[in-house]
Amino acid sequence: MASVLVVEDDQFVRSALIRHLTEASHTVRSVGTALEALREVAHFRFDLVILDLGLPDLDGSEALKMLRGITDVPVIVATARDDETEIVRLLNDGADDYLTKPFSVEHLSARMAAVLRRARSAGDAPPPRVLQVGGLSIDPLRRQAHLDGTELDLTRREFDLLAFLAGRPGVVVPRKELLAEVWQQSYGDDQTIDVHLSWLRRKLGETAARPRYLHTLRGVGVKLEPPR
Ligand code: CA
Repeated sequence: MASVLVVEDDQFVRSALIRHLTEASHTVRSVGTALEALREVAHFRFDLVILDLGLPDLDGSEALKMLRGITDVPVIVATARDDETEIVRLLNDGADDYLTKPFSVEHLSARMAAVLRRARSAGDAPPPRVLQVGGLSIDPLRRQAHLDGTELDLTRREFDLLAFLAGRPGVVVPRKELLAEVWQQSYGDDQTIDVHLSWLRRKLGETAARPRYLHTLRGVGVKLEPPR
């Protein structure tokens, strides 16, 4: 399942693509010009762009270059020109793959699967960013946490626990998931988590009875959220 932008001015081809992609459980947005495509990728996150090269407003390779200027989303170009030099040039200009028109839906699916697989295995994890929950800010890259501007002195485990919860603010994380993700254990006793939580609470200046950020839901899990 992927989020796909279809850039195609031919209404017939466009509807066929949308129908096929939707049937394959992808979410699709579509536009008919290069400029609209640029606007789309600037505003939305896509997993893949299917770019027709014969667009009314911009030459295909121009469109591709401009697209590449603002996003590294995988792009499959669809070209009517079965010209090797042209295709090599497009691949050099940043296309991830190409399809020669007319193409079958099976062919498209196969190319899409390959491009998506490559993009995902490229390990392009989102760049670590500073997580902000109320007055708490957590910098996973520097492994620093601040509360209202004051740096917290946390152990490695406390930091991991806090950062994991801060990545899902307001979400109740089951204890099992914490054990698996923070402790990398598939089982363990709840006490391990409780002990670390109580240390973390103390450092955040709160108690289980008077929680501010850390909320324990008995028998369910833990959540971190900004104080009301
Ligand atoms: Ca066209």
